[in-house]
Amino acid sequence: MTRPFPLVLSAPSGGGKTTVARALLARRDDVGYSVSCTTRPPRAGEVDGEAYHFLTTEDFEAEIAAGSFAEFAQVHGRWYGTRAAELRRVMAGGRHVILDIDVQGAEQIAAAFPDAVLVFLLPPSGETLLARLTGRNTDDRAAILRRMRNALEELRHVTRYHYVVVNDDLEQTLRRVGAILDAEVVRHARHEALDDRLAGLMSDLEQRLRAFAHS
Ligand code: 5GP
Repeated sequence: MTRPFPLVLSAPSGGGKTTVARALLARRDDVGYSVSCTTRPPRAGEVDGEAYHFLTTEDFEAEIAAGSFAEFAQVHGRWYGTRAAELRRVMAGGRHVILDIDVQGAEQIAAAFPDAVLVFLLPPSGETLLARLTGRNTDDRAAILRRMRNALEELRHVTRYHYVVVNDDLEQTLRRVGAILDAEVVRHARHEALDDRLAGLMSDLEQRLRAFAHS
């Protein structure tokens, strides 16, 4: 009944958005995931086409020139982008589409899709964020430093987001993001064919009223 919309999840690296996105996808059948493209190399265990579509810089830039991306940005010195066709694919299946993207991408999505919902996940503290970044064991010191600096920069953009959730406890975060989705789904403006539904309901009620009045 509700028109599918993009749900942007942003957080500094280590903010837990990938975990939150995966858990939402596992628990809800009304959401799908937009697999991004990137020029960064795959981390151990990342499968092409699942975590990301891993592209060469040349291919990525060719797609920029061809206008394939609904949004794209450089993050930590690499290209990242969301193909417009990927968003259409998920939404054409009737599902809301989760985008795990940075603040630059979020702004582009908000401009292109005014009905998009923007959620920022805040780490509970600097200490937790650093612990998550160093505990990942996939990045070297320089990469961790870059991600910490980028986290500071990203926090300056939180005001653009509709919702801010402190991601301290995963279950609580999932309840909160789930509640955001549930509320957004029933927003008046998102209902498809609401006029038809109301007209049907009113004519049904009128008939019943007449029948009842004459009984
Ligand atoms: P990572 O390399 O750790 O997977 O992601 C690094 C950052 O890039 C994260 O903040 C992530 O949300 C962001 N990112 C991932 N995919 C996209 C995308 O398609 N577009 C944009 N703008 N950012 C993305």
